[in-house]
Amino acid sequence: MSKLLAQPKKQPKLDTTFPCPFCNHRDSVDCFIDLEHNCARVVCFVCQENFSTKAHPLTEPVDVYAEWIDACVAVNTQ
Ligand SMILES: [Zn+2]
Repeated sequence: MSKLLAQPKKQPKLDTTFPCPFCNHRDSVDCFIDLEHNCARVVCFVCQENFSTKAHPLTEPVDVYAEWIDACVAVNTQ
């Protein structure tokens, strides 16, 4: 029997948890995308920091997270 038969096809898995820029916990930030209301939210379940933005059908969790980081940087450089 070939081992190759048992290998599942590799699916690129998109990250939905991220490190928190505030408390620096790994994978403590979760992303929720609500396409019914066209909004998205990231929230850290450790320090409760969160961020909301608009979402569209192509929005990925990583996009929301990146926007949050951008917003943090913008605040820090003001
Ligand atoms: Zn945090």
